Amino acid sequence: MKHFRSQALILRIKEFGESDLLVSFFTPEAGILKGIAKAAKRSRKRFVNCLDHFCLVQLEYHSKKENQLLFLDACKLIDGFGQLRRDYGLLATASYLVELTETLFPLHVKEKKMFYLLKGSFERLCKGEALEEVRLVFEARAMTLGGYAIATERCCYCGRNYRGEGRAVFVAERGGISCLGCRRESERYPGMDPASVRALRQIQEPDEEAGQEPFLEARTIEEIKAVLEQHIIYRLGKKLKSREYLG
Ligand SMILES: [Zn+2]
Repeated sequence: MKHFRSQALILRIKEFGESDLLVSFFTPEAGILKGIAKAAKRSRKRFVNCLDHFCLVQLEYHSKKENQLLFLDACKLIDGFGQLRRDYGLLATASYLVELTETLFPLHVKEKKMFYLLKGSFERLCKGEALEEVRLVFEARAMTLGGYAIATERCCYCGRNYRGEGRAVFVAERGGISCLGCRRESERYPGMDPASVRALRQIQEPDEEAGQEPFLEARTIEEIKAVLEQHIIYRLGKKLKSREYLG
């Protein structure tokens, strides 16, 4: 038997049989995992106020054999992120962030930075930061961590360096930007001002020492939003279910 103790974000909870709960949780060290909380529906003592969507907890669990079903033993609440469950807009956004995380990082795929990105985004949402901005920054970074950063250095057709003068066009099927000579702007190929390309770069490669998010103008947000929408649908091959509930 192997015992573990880890910080975790509770992602999903499902009833399992008469009295158990099936819990999906995200850990920094082992990625997303699933485990059974025995008798959690009858006695909540071991899991006081902990087993709820989006909660940040200190979790103890064990497995009987390697790579087999996990059992949750105890759980201590670190931060409940209660607002995320009380406000519809926050709930919709947080649910979308979780679905994007699960899609990019299936069970057991480890990515510590992704754990801290999700946790940090929950914190930003609870602080009352603008939903759309938190979402865009999350999307761009999650895609980057998942191996799908948007290439902004040069035109994806002719290879000419992008010097930050004039508009660029995003080409989803090439995962990068194009010059106006190679591709015209359209709904399918959204354009970006130099400021938007710069902002996208900063978001994808954050300066961790600065510890601050770049300030985004309304126009920049609109442009990056259109680009990320195309990018995510193309790379994931689908529109996420929870995306329907967002603006
Ligand atoms: Zn070109």
